[in-house]
Amino acid sequence: MRLSQYFLPTLKETPSEARIASHRLMLRAGMIRQSSAGIYSWLPLGFRVMKKIEQIVREEQDAIGAHEMLMPTIQPADLWHESGRYDSYGPEMLRITDRHDRDMLYGPTNEEQITEIFRDAVKSYRDLPRHLYHIQWKFRDEVRPRFGVMRGREFLMKDAYSFDLDFEGAKTTYNKQFVAYLKTFKRMGLTAIPMQAESGPIGGDMSHEFVVLAATGESEVACHKDFIDMDLNKWDLDPDGDLTTVVSGLTENYAATDERRDPEIEKALGDDLVVARGIEVGHIFYFGNKYSAAMGAIVTGPDGEDVTVEMGSYGIGVSRLVGGIIEASHDDNGIIWPQSVAPFQAGLINLKPGDSACDGAADDLYQKLIDAGVDVLMDDREGRAGVKFADMDLIGLPWQVVVGPKGLKDGIVEVKNRATGERQEVTPEDAVKNLAA
Ligand code: ATP
Ligand code: MG
Repeated sequence: MRLSQYFLPTLKETPSEARIASHRLMLRAGMIRQSSAGIYSWLPLGFRVMKKIEQIVREEQDAIGAHEMLMPTIQPADLWHESGRYDSYGPEMLRITDRHDRDMLYGPTNEEQITEIFRDAVKSYRDLPRHLYHIQWKFRDEVRPRFGVMRGREFLMKDAYSFDLDFEGAKTTYNKQFVAYLKTFKRMGLTAIPMQAESGPIGGDMSHEFVVLAATGESEVACHKDFIDMDLNKWDLDPDGDLTTVVSGLTENYAATDERRDPEIEKALGDDLVVARGIEVGHIFYFGNKYSAAMGAIVTGPDGEDVTVEMGSYGIGVSRLVGGIIEASHDDNGIIWPQSVAPFQAGLINLKPGDSACDGAADDLYQKLIDAGVDVLMDDREGRAGVKFADMDLIGLPWQVVVGPKGLKDGIVEVKNRATGERQEVTPEDAVKNLAA
């Protein structure tokens, strides 16, 4: 991509409404723009990151045998009357009336919708288990939308739903999601701590929130220090293997939210106790037959009897993660993207557009990087070097390659690692080789 042709409206000044780093940086880096409170447009750079995150989430859901689908954003109120949540959900639900005076709503979640689809289609235990997910916009009329995309009103969520014949089956599915979450967040460069959770308005028994540590997080986490640099390689995470050991091994280690802090346990942990703030990036629930009983999701069991199916739901805040990753990875100059979610792998700076040697070398390098499979954004704009360096640091691509007249005389370009600040002078050929590797 050539920056001269790209839509990247960066800001020099810090927008006054932004209180936390990720919000400031997303506005300054031209990733998002606010439409109204808690509702954002995703500009090309922000959209690319969100798509990368979405794809990691998708791959890990597919890997545990969940099947992707897509349900609507707008749902009929009738479905929510069936579950009893139309009244209990409260003012966070955005209620809409259509032209025929029918009550509709913008879905804050999809348990009712998926249960309806399931109960109409599945009648026998032979068709169980079923495990489905979608990645779709949600609306919750949060009383105080804040921190940019972290607590929006409209936000993108991955929500998965499972249907099993019995508790054992439901627990196996729950454990698969648990492990998929650990892998998903790890791939984004995050350590997410699984905490025992209250189940909230969705209701239920077995529930974990996954929390990423950040000073600006809204939740308090208390945990064993081993969670902080959790080594997933220690565990066998094969989704078809024995995950009970993994999940109980991790959860027997203490991790609690503000509401669930336990003074005794904490005293026993002594110096191993860490108390920190964090951002909830995912939440998994087992809730038994709460919806299946209310809405009649019943199958014929192996002995011909009626069985009310066992359900769970599993959410990931895809748009919140964009902010969450920035909270976990930035410095005074801007964002530092982990490779796996970076909008481009490398930024190529042409220090002197209009100079034929610089243009020739930059264009050549640009093409060679593309040919080598490196996603590259070339700053080919006229203008001061200082502005280009600052913008490139701000948008946080993992690698920067600088092409300038001085270096070219000696046949070299400069390669900078955004995370470490380390610089190396190499030939253009080696720059391509190193970045492709
Ligand atoms: P919170 O406690 O932060 O309000 P929640 O418990 O209501 O979240 P869930 O119903 O568990 O949220 O939704 C699943 C995931 O969706 C959350 O883990 C979070 O990552 C994301 N999410 C929830 N609310 C918002 C929001 N207002 N803006 C952005 N992401 C959100
Ligand atoms: Mg939650």
